[in-house]
Amino acid sequence: MAELSMNTRVPLGNGTAIPVLGLGVWKMAEGEETEHAVNMALEAGYRHIDTAKLYGNERSVGKAVRESGIPRGDIFVTTKLWPTDFLAPERGFRNSLERLDIGYVDLYLIHWPVPFMSRKIWKTLERVYEEGLARAIGVSNFSIGDIEKLHGYARILPMANQVEFNPASHDLKLVEYCKEKNIVVEAYSPLSRGKLTSSPTVAAIAKQYGKTPAQVLIRWALQHGTIPLPKSSNKERIIENTNIFDFSLDPADMQSLNTLSR
Ligand code: NDP
Repeated sequence: MAELSMNTRVPLGNGTAIPVLGLGVWKMAEGEETEHAVNMALEAGYRHIDTAKLYGNERSVGKAVRESGIPRGDIFVTTKLWPTDFLAPERGFRNSLERLDIGYVDLYLIHWPVPFMSRKIWKTLERVYEEGLARAIGVSNFSIGDIEKLHGYARILPMANQVEFNPASHDLKLVEYCKEKNIVVEAYSPLSRGKLTSSPTVAAIAKQYGKTPAQVLIRWALQHGTIPLPKSSNKERIIENTNIFDFSLDPADMQSLNTLSR
C-alpha cells in the first residue's frame, strides 16, 4: 500500500480528487456543535466533510468552511439527496446548495436507493454535474443490483458509493465490484457508531500496535481501499482519528477483523 497521509487524495472516475479521510457530521446539531467540530477538524488537517440534507446541519458546515480561511478548492464537501426530495430532486439539490452557500458541492449522492423514480433522480444528478454545481456524483447504500440497474440508463456513471463499512458490518464483494467499476467506496460508520471501540478483539489488536481501537478500525477501512468517514465532535477524538498513517495492519490482523462478526 503506497504511503498515505492526511494530504493524500484519490481520483474519482472523472479525475476529481477526494481526500482519503473525511469527517462525518451525522447527529451533530446545527449551530455551534457542527461549526465547532468542522473548525477543529479543518485545524487538525481534515479537508473532507460529509454531510447530508437529513443531518440538518448543512448551514453550519457551509459557514465553517466559508469562515475557515482555507481556499474553497482545498476542501471537499459531500451532501446527499434524501428520499423526501425524490419527487423534486432538482429543488432538493438547490436547497442543499443554498444552505451550504459554498458555490458548488464536491460530491452529491443519492442517499438511499428507491425502486421508483430512480431514472429521473439520476438525470437530475447528471444535470447538476454537467452544470458544474456538483463536481462529482454518486450513490449511497446501493447494492450491486442497484448499481447494475443504474448502469442500465446512466449516461454518467456513479463515481462513489457510500456504504456502512466496519468489521461488524461490511460487504467485501460489493467493495470488489465497485473497484472493478471504478466506483470509490466511502466507509460510513467506520467505528460502528462507537460500538466497536470497546470490542476486546479490536482492543487486543490495538495494543500490539500501540494504537487506539478507533485508529485500528479506521486503518482497517483504509487498507480495504475505502475512504473512512469517522464522526466525532470531540477535539481529542477528532485528532486521534487522524493518526492512522504511521502504521499498517498485517494480513493476519486484517483477516481477524474481517471475520469479527462471525
Ligand atoms: P461512527 O462509526 O463514525 O461513530 C461515531 C461515534 O463514535 C460517536 O459516538 C463518536 O462520539 C464516537 N467516536 C468517535 N471517535 C472516537 C474515538 N476515537 N474513540 C471512541 N469513540 C469515538 O458513526 P457514524 O454513524 O456517525 O458514521 C460516520 C459518518 O458516516 C456519519 O457522521 C455520516 O457522515 C456518515 N453516515 C452515512 C450514512 C449514509 O446512509 N450514507 C449512514 C450513517 C453514517 P464523539 O462524537 O463523542 O467522539
